[in-house]
Amino acid sequence: MQPGINRENDTMTQTSSAANDPEEAYPLGAPDDDRPPMKANAFECMRTANSKLTPMFGKYLHKGAMVPAVSCITGASGRSFQMFKHENCVDEIATVFGAQGVPMGPGAVKIGAKDHFVNIPLKDNQDPSNYVLIVVTQRQWDAPEPQWEKVSLLCEQCQEPLIENKYTCDPAEEQLRSIHSRNDFVPFATLVEGVRAAKMLNDDPERLVCKECSFSNKPFPLDDWGWNNYAENAATVSLALSQYPASAAPASGQQKREV
Ligand SMILES: [Zn+2]
Repeated sequence: MQPGINRENDTMTQTSSAANDPEEAYPLGAPDDDRPPMKANAFECMRTANSKLTPMFGKYLHKGAMVPAVSCITGASGRSFQMFKHENCVDEIATVFGAQGVPMGPGAVKIGAKDHFVNIPLKDNQDPSNYVLIVVTQRQWDAPEPQWEKVSLLCEQCQEPLIENKYTCDPAEEQLRSIHSRNDFVPFATLVEGVRAAKMLNDDPERLVCKECSFSNKPFPLDDWGWNNYAENAATVSLALSQYPASAAPASGQQKREV
């Protein structure tokens, strides 16, 4: 369990025993001066989100940051969400804000296994009245080694991985300095790396044929997940920021994360 994501009992015990000591009661400490606390309405964020998973506070992805991301999945004619597998080194907490045609109701809170299938539980993927709107929150870890995740795109018939992409979420120091020097933001690795895996799979017809069961899989439905919208916009924003004069965005390099 990560610091700050306490079980109910731990939180209650901690709060009652340290009620008179703010530092003990709030072990996260005071916010950094350059990172004031932010708040946002999940429903409002979802209206303008450009991916099926979109961080609510896009610049707050640093070590120790709380990262809530909005997600809504809606049935639609012709829509197909292929199941995939995601392994995260930190916990993900899902809070349901709205749902119909899924086995969870608004207000449900769920914590899954760190290594989990992502399987959309709509009764009917083609029915627009079936939907789920959730916020998935993770806390970036504080450990000195890079935070990591793995995405595996699977055979539809036997669930064996067709492709696996294990990646680190933290840019290297030099890359981070370059990003900050341009007033640029570190992109949400989950989406950028998910796109990388899907493109590698979809661009290689041989990979789509399962080595375990020989099933010919359809390309991964990247457009239905929308990760590519986020990744493309993030790359375009990086290009735009790199064109600003040094006075606005001191340039110590043009290195940027490949998308
Ligand atoms: Zn297979």
